[in-house]
Amino acid sequence: MILRRSIPFSILPLLLVTISAAQISAQQQQKEELKLPAVTLCVGNYQSEADAVRQLDRFASTYSNLSEWKLRASAIRQQILTGVQLNPLPESTPLNSIIHKRRVYPGYSVESVAFEARPGFLVYGNLYRPIDRTGPFPGVLCPHGHATGRDGGRLRHDQQYRCATLARMGAVVFSYDMVGFGDSEAYGWSHKHPQVMKLQTWSSVRAIDFLQSLNDVDSDSISVTGCSGGGTQTFLLTAIDERVKVSVPVVMVSAHFFGGCTCESGMPIHKTATLETSNVEIAALAAPRPMLLVSVGGDWTKNTPEVEFPYIQSVYKLFGNADNVENRHFPEEDHGYQVKKRQGMYPFMVKHLKLDSTGLVNSQTGMFDESGTVLESVETMRVFDDQHPLPKNAIQPGSIVSF
Ligand SMILES: [Zn+2]
Repeated sequence: MILRRSIPFSILPLLLVTISAAQISAQQQQKEELKLPAVTLCVGNYQSEADAVRQLDRFASTYSNLSEWKLRASAIRQQILTGVQLNPLPESTPLNSIIHKRRVYPGYSVESVAFEARPGFLVYGNLYRPIDRTGPFPGVLCPHGHATGRDGGRLRHDQQYRCATLARMGAVVFSYDMVGFGDSEAYGWSHKHPQVMKLQTWSSVRAIDFLQSLNDVDSDSISVTGCSGGGTQTFLLTAIDERVKVSVPVVMVSAHFFGGCTCESGMPIHKTATLETSNVEIAALAAPRPMLLVSVGGDWTKNTPEVEFPYIQSVYKLFGNADNVENRHFPEEDHGYQVKKRQGMYPFMVKHLKLDSTGLVNSQTGMFDESGTVLESVETMRVFDDQHPLPKNAIQPGSIVSF
């Protein structure tokens, strides 16, 4: 397994980038440069592990009961939405969903999908659905991390195993591109797009709308799981959208590492003049909804059992729901969503989404059988081709998307 995600970002030096609010958006400049204070971007290895522990202590001292936490949680949620320029939330414009190229395999099907998160701005993905079962089914969103290349992102084999196996157990699974990956890249979009964090966060919100628009999805049973940059998308979406009922952020919730890409920490969601927070507290906004933290010894989640998990569980305790958050830690594993991490996730999803794993679990090893996954080629997974042309209203790659 090649771990390309960590190459550009894990080596980032400690960065403290202070920018003026006016720099964030030229549009905002005229209106806000006189009234907003400077903000701080917390990027990559923003602080030492020891400083991160002290920071969590500071956070914990700001509340002592559930009502005080709820006030803090609300302020954090507002800071995220304001930071990514989605406050107030934009209008939900027509998705104009395209679902086609259905392929049928034993126990599940795969289709190629696009919808408009904003008019003309397409989100590309694949939809994995159970067959020979009776719905409605829980819906699972699967964002991906920063693995690049022609078969990176949602096209990776590990992502296909994850999606197909969940579908074979009775979930409708939507796996979708980051901006500048997969089909988005093929049509000319770059991950360096200046709105990348805003576009991806909004696309995840609209991906819930998309799942809820499907007749075979139970609108009240939506969950999300992703690793690395997909883990960031997982906890950001769970924090801002109550429709997420179960979440599994993988190898990304860290007290000292804030995510090194502009789609993770390129906008001021962590630190402003009025509130300082971190991805640990953002993940804790999931409380009291079921959440599994998957962590490993080989990256910035190495301290999770001693640092991040106890902090988050203390928030769940305020709700009287300490058991709703779990940690599966793999000290020998490295960054990524490889098989052991997937095997850690499946039982949690089976339990909380009431999936049917009959026939998929080895009675001796307890391992979930992923061998029923039919790995598809990039060409098969693509949404548009000569027979299925790109919609005429698709906006030019690189355009600034209007909100
Ligand atoms: Zn990114």
